Amino acid sequence: KHEGGNQYRTCVRDSALEDGEPLFLKERMIREALTMGWFRLYLQPIFRAASPDLEAPELLGAEALIRLEHPELGLVPPDEFIAAAEKTGQIVEIGNWVLEEAAVILCEWRRLGIEERYLSVNASVIQFRDQGILHQLESLLERYPIHPSQLVVEVTENLMLDSKDSLRYQLQAIRRLGVNLSLDDFGTGFSCLSYLHDLPFGILKVDRSFVMNVETSRRDRELARVIVAMGQSLGMQVVVEGVEERGQAEIFQAMGVHAFQGYLFGRPMPQQAFETRFHANADA
Ligand code: C2E
Ligand code: CA
Ligand code: CA
Ligand code: CA
Repeated sequence: KHEGGNQYRTCVRDSALEDGEPLFLKERMIREALTMGWFRLYLQPIFRAASPDLEAPELLGAEALIRLEHPELGLVPPDEFIAAAEKTGQIVEIGNWVLEEAAVILCEWRRLGIEERYLSVNASVIQFRDQGILHQLESLLERYPIHPSQLVVEVTENLMLDSKDSLRYQLQAIRRLGVNLSLDDFGTGFSCLSYLHDLPFGILKVDRSFVMNVETSRRDRELARVIVAMGQSLGMQVVVEGVEERGQAEIFQAMGVHAFQGYLFGRPMPQQAFETRFHANADA
């Protein structure tokens, strides 16, 4: 193993780097961000697909997407630090911050009289170790006067790589708390259909990669149709993400999907901008 040296070392070095930046630098940036309070949740609106008028669709809720607001680097997107945080374990602390912040937002919505819209947060598989996320959610619902049904936890398919029994136990417990679960990036990961029908997801999110070429590629359109039909037949609400074109929305609307999320309808924005745009005339 030692002679194959060069290639092996290259391999190790590459995996310890992300976008050319050493892991320890990212770890330091994340630690600083956690102590200095540089993390922000941006909100991207999610709309009812069956809205009669797609120009003014009905708002169903929002997905919370994390950003790191660095004083020198500016807005750092999650793709540049989430994977690193998963490696260093800092994702647990980030995940806890995200859930606390989401609860604060839901309290604010409640104060504004908005009790019918949901907030969806992303969770990493690592947050399911030692039932961390389950305990965090229990504690959250004790400490904040929020309706659990307004909270959605999005998990990606790579979650399936963890122990199925522990996962099923936690997902079922989370559902019993009244919190909804969304299967994110569906179709991109380690697809295991038996898990899909076996785990209590209420929402299925069709990944953007199935949306991009839906207008031009017949093959992609058929694939999308199968995925949507599968979710629907399992009684899940199908949310289509990454919708950028009107034509894409129309194709999925005809399939009877539940909701849309994408640049066509709205980009992720700071909470303040979201409230101004969507909750301005909420009964305060
Ligand atoms: P995701 O959960 O699949 O989130 C959707 C991503 O697609 C977001 O990127 C969003 O800005 C982007 N997007 C939405 N509509 C469109 C569209 O029409 N076109 C295109 N091209 N993109 C669109 P973002 O905010 O950069 O987040 C990237 C990923 O980072 C997320 O993918 C999620 O996996 C992860 N992430 C974000 N926030 C969190 C968090 O709080 N915790 C964890 N664990 N992961 C997070
Ligand atoms: Ca209201
Ligand atoms: Ca997501
Ligand atoms: Ca997604």
